[in-house]
Amino acid sequence: MKVIEHLELAKNPLFSYEIVPPPRGRSVQDIIDIVETLSPVSPAWIDVTSHSSSAYYNEKEDGSIERKIFKKRPGTIGICGIIQNRFRIDTVVHMLCLGFTKEETEDALLELNFLGIHNVLALRGDGPNYKKEISKNRTTNYYASDLVEQIKDINQGKFLDEIEGGSKFDFCVGVAAYPEKHFEAPNLKLDLFNLKKKVDAGADYVVTQMFFDNNHYFEFVRQARAAGITVPIIPGIKILKNATQLTSIPKNFYIDFPDELVETVTKDPKNVGEIGKRWADNQVKGLLEGGAPCIHFYIMNDTNNVVDIVKKYQK
Ligand code: FAD
Repeated sequence: MKVIEHLELAKNPLFSYEIVPPPRGRSVQDIIDIVETLSPVSPAWIDVTSHSSSAYYNEKEDGSIERKIFKKRPGTIGICGIIQNRFRIDTVVHMLCLGFTKEETEDALLELNFLGIHNVLALRGDGPNYKKEISKNRTTNYYASDLVEQIKDINQGKFLDEIEGGSKFDFCVGVAAYPEKHFEAPNLKLDLFNLKKKVDAGADYVVTQMFFDNNHYFEFVRQARAAGITVPIIPGIKILKNATQLTSIPKNFYIDFPDELVETVTKDPKNVGEIGKRWADNQVKGLLEGGAPCIHFYIMNDTNNVVDIVKKYQK
């Protein structure tokens, strides 16, 4: 079932989860164990992240250029196939612009159709100075809105390469948003303007970056509605589990922690697990009371605490 159908038909609170493929070469059993742990709380759907290989060019102090390669972490589509066909849980495949040609994207969408996967989260990906050698006549999407457009073209039968037969394509497309602003955007207004481009290109729903203060979400939704964005906006949250995250999360995700959470953890660092769980539980309560259409957990393969929290909100 498509994400948008889950949202339309929901009678009880919905919860979705985001997981990461295992490191290169590791067994998929780790993922199967995670899905087995989540199964009793009936995930509405599970997102699986995507990671392109990327080349970064660093200019060293002596002026020389150092080329660093980060290896691709494969498995996104295969893992979604396993979850969907073995566990009968719907999945959302993350697809990136950066690191993939449009032709590779088209082939991946044909593969998803074989697997019966109809949900895609269309993302740009990250990588300053990213460079990929693209052979002649091949093109790449740059902004997520370009990728949304390509997927929606395929829904209408417009392909880059010729295809045979009459397969139907009907992908539900989600896009990302940032209640505390995307780090490259000069301000939230312009970021929302760019979010609207993704929705105008055909995105069916939006999922937010994690935040620890619900006010950011509610204010963001208010501004998005004022900007003419009418599709569902799903809040993404993360359960804090160690004190190091107080510095690593803002650095990696460009978000702020509320003073109250920082002070509570600083006073009692040994209990950060319990504090994080209680905080996330309060966030869930407030978001559901405020009308959020679903809660998306960034579990990143850590199922600690999440099942306990979700159980409380399920009949
Ligand atoms: P875009 O929507 O393309 O926006 C990127 C920036 O460009 C923004 O500042 C925007 O304001 C600006 N912009 C957009 N369109 C235009 C335009 N037409 N003209 C000028 N400026 C424009 N990363 C991964 O590598 N793998 C994942 O699986 C993954 N999953 C994610 C899931 C979620 C829910 C979220 C919130 C993020 C995820 N990311 C993932 C991170 C994401 O790839 C980065 O945050 C990336 O920097 C931006 O992606 P985007 O799709 O929001 O980009």
